[in-house]
Amino acid sequence: MANFLALAATVAIRYAAIRRQSQLKPNEPEPQILDFVTQQHKLFIAIATSHAFSLTATWLWDLYSKVNVDLAAGNTNDLPELHAIACCLKAVTSSDAAGLVERCRMSCGGHGYMLSSNLPQMYGMVTAACTYEGENTVMMLQTARQHFILQDFMTRGHFIRAALNFQTFGCFEAAKRKQGKPLSFTMAYLSDRSGPQKWDSSVDGIIMSFQRVAAGKLSSAVTSMKKYIKSGLSTEDAWNKASVQLVAASEAHCRSFILSTYHSEIRRKAASLSAPLKAVLHQLVELYAIYWTLERLGDLLLFTSITESDVSALRHAYEDLLEKIRPNAVGLVDAFDYRDEILNSTLGAYDGRVYERLMGEALKSPLNAESVNQSFYKYLKPLMQGKL
Ligand SMILES: Cc1cc2nc3c(=O)[nH]c(=O)nc-3n(C[C@H](O)[C@H](O)[C@H](O)COP(=O)(O)OP(=O)(O)OC[C@H]3O[C@@H](n4cnc5c(N)ncnc54)[C@H](O)[C@@H]3O)c2cc1C
Repeated sequence: MANFLALAATVAIRYAAIRRQSQLKPNEPEPQILDFVTQQHKLFIAIATSHAFSLTATWLWDLYSKVNVDLAAGNTNDLPELHAIACCLKAVTSSDAAGLVERCRMSCGGHGYMLSSNLPQMYGMVTAACTYEGENTVMMLQTARQHFILQDFMTRGHFIRAALNFQTFGCFEAAKRKQGKPLSFTMAYLSDRSGPQKWDSSVDGIIMSFQRVAAGKLSSAVTSMKKYIKSGLSTEDAWNKASVQLVAASEAHCRSFILSTYHSEIRRKAASLSAPLKAVLHQLVELYAIYWTLERLGDLLLFTSITESDVSALRHAYEDLLEKIRPNAVGLVDAFDYRDEILNSTLGAYDGRVYERLMGEALKSPLNAESVNQSFYKYLKPLMQGKL
């Protein structure tokens, strides 16, 4: 998903640097469409998301490698955690990537719809991933099942595990908790029982707020399910009835995890990078954090102390970030380093010769072998002359 996003962002941002349209001010030349802030809003998040997914994928791969070594030694301790986080990551990354690739396509206007842009094919590949290798809703419910049982244990002191008939991460983590051991890395925030805190707009503060949203959504889902069971529904029916909330809780958990992994990995890598590169990569992390804060205001209003003035400040910070990233946008997609043969796009080649390539593609059609097709002279012209 990270790679497809990088491909789509490369095509769309290069095209947006070539395409000129409309006027920002009267009597001035048409600007590159990349100078429209709405265009930046559509596209820069695709770069940041590609980085976030790529770093999270590396983290997951490392966990997978560790679990494989552990399994060879008969240790299955981290296997449930790998399962729980991989399930929701698969669903959230494929769904976000499909949305963003489609957004890249639409950001290229009518030309993005042309097969020769290669964006429709990229969308076809990415949206398929929402279904194969584990249908996304089913994956989200896998993660939810495990979290649900853990939350149930933490609030009620026992599991509904027997009724759900599942050997899960939740049970495993709950057992850990019973023994006084800390929860696994991806779940640790669930044991935070501190009360409401003042809103903090730093990336660390936003991560903490997203964790509160995830814990709050999980808690609401658990409460609903308990009510349904109390009202006489079977555990399975109560689960099904609360499953929209459970999927939302899984999604929130996953988003907080991606954001915190993205931030910590960039911070770790930044130690060995030049100051200017470090600054740009941090701008992208901040952009990602604020973008999702503004996307999830309803949740944050429910579960954190964010206020209207915090939101207003965040909107300004977001607009400033778009402005700061703009001069580096083309450099950032060039840095994905895709060859033209791989991009296979009339709109996204390195040399920016979009219109020459579009003309070349149009000339491949037999209908365009002559500048005016003979059918015009044979059928249309006489008809039009007769009518006129
Ligand atoms: C492009 C592509 C390539 C594929 N390649 C392969 C392949 O190489 N090998 C292979 O074996 N298969 C392959 N598949 C099949 C793929 O694995 C299945 O399509 C996928 O697992 C979903 O199963 P399904 O089609 O039966 O959908 P269903 O399970 O019928 O899903 C239909 C709907 O029901 C919902 N639903 C189903 N179960 C639940 C539940 N428990 N709770 C809530 N909602 C539920 C889903 O969310 C979805 O909305 C491929 C599919 C695609 C699209």
